[in-house]
Amino acid sequence: MVLVYFETYGCALNRADTALMMSLVCEKGYRISRHIEEADVIVVNTCTVRLDTELRMLRRLSYLYKRFGNSKKIVVAGCMAAAQPYTVKRVAPGAILLSPQNITKLAEVIESGTDALLGERDVSYLRPYVDGAIAAVPIAEGCIGDCSFCLTKLARRRLRSYKPGVIVKAVEEAVKSGAVEIELTAQDTGSYGLDLGDVRLPDLVREIVERVPGKYMLRIGMANPDTIAELIDDVVEVLNEPRVYKYVHIPLQSADDRILKIMRRKYTYDDFREIVRELRRKILGITIATDVIVGHPGEDEDAFQRTATAIVELQFDKVHIAQYTIRPRTLSAAMDQVPEHVKKSRSIALSKIVEEVGISINREYLNSMANVIVTHKSIRGSTMGRTINYKPVVLLNSNTGETIGSEHIARVIAATFYDLRGYLVDL
Ligand code: SF4
Repeated sequence: MVLVYFETYGCALNRADTALMMSLVCEKGYRISRHIEEADVIVVNTCTVRLDTELRMLRRLSYLYKRFGNSKKIVVAGCMAAAQPYTVKRVAPGAILLSPQNITKLAEVIESGTDALLGERDVSYLRPYVDGAIAAVPIAEGCIGDCSFCLTKLARRRLRSYKPGVIVKAVEEAVKSGAVEIELTAQDTGSYGLDLGDVRLPDLVREIVERVPGKYMLRIGMANPDTIAELIDDVVEVLNEPRVYKYVHIPLQSADDRILKIMRRKYTYDDFREIVRELRRKILGITIATDVIVGHPGEDEDAFQRTATAIVELQFDKVHIAQYTIRPRTLSAAMDQVPEHVKKSRSIALSKIVEEVGISINREYLNSMANVIVTHKSIRGSTMGRTINYKPVVLLNSNTGETIGSEHIARVIAATFYDLRGYLVDL
């Protein structure tokens, strides 16, 4: 019996890809091992979204190759295998490379020892990634963007959407295995179905809630402003569905139109603001998360201040701040770079603004009663719940065993800039 050990880095899409690879090799007679020492094959599902991530990956691959390269097969999968094959081969010359498009061929490449980097993803086969009561279901790979800073595009390539029937089956499977929160994930859920022709994201969500019975909540994963804008009326309608979290994650990246142009983002700040206002007009208490890149080439003080002002103006519940890092083979890599110390000080300044906005929003919940779904245990061991608008709630009087997946009422007694704390009052 051949034992396969998996190590996964990066986003929900990568975690779901690992789940798919695990189930496929099991169907082919392999067994999953949780212990690297006993394994015959090591699969590292890599991420290379930022320079610091790439360096961490290379350190890990170099260590694994030195330690196990002679005794075990090492498969390097994920975005780094597709976007930087030569960089991987430099630290692990004998590793087998498997691009995200070829994850369904893992068993074959283990047998043959040959790289699989070309070709398109087989979208007829899908498995959910289930971690306790939370699941991730990929709905598509790739995107229709070509953002100047992004290496993921080179790894995940063109848009490939799974058909609704395949996704519905994966959601059913996740619900049957106890998931109460299901994230529909992709690089850009807003572009879902553009390659299928007759179905888009709201149609998919409607089909899932109609065809999959059970107690669960859907979370719509990250969507780009330009692709969600054309769907906004239907997106509003499905976000008002009782089984859909009132939550959206729409990356702004910058609030300066000149920088958005340099980034090759397909919207202006006005377009973005209008989307936020429309969602807030039509969905009570919606939680809006965003991403911002600090220090992208071309960003001067004025451009940065526009982004800082936008955080306050649009009152985001959550902001992922990333300091721009050079990614190979991208347009931005060839541009004049913003000095590191400037990026750092802007990132610190923006984090302060994000915290101030976050705490002022979350303080509005103090002493309120919130309906929560108990979803998971945090890394610190606290029992966590989610409100209908996806606010994380630390449940101070609940022990995990009996409550995961159940719905309760919590009285909110404290707030931080990123979560709420409360007591369950109906235990
Ligand atoms: S939309 Fe842009 S940032 Fe997102 S994956 Fe595609 S190219 Fe990268």
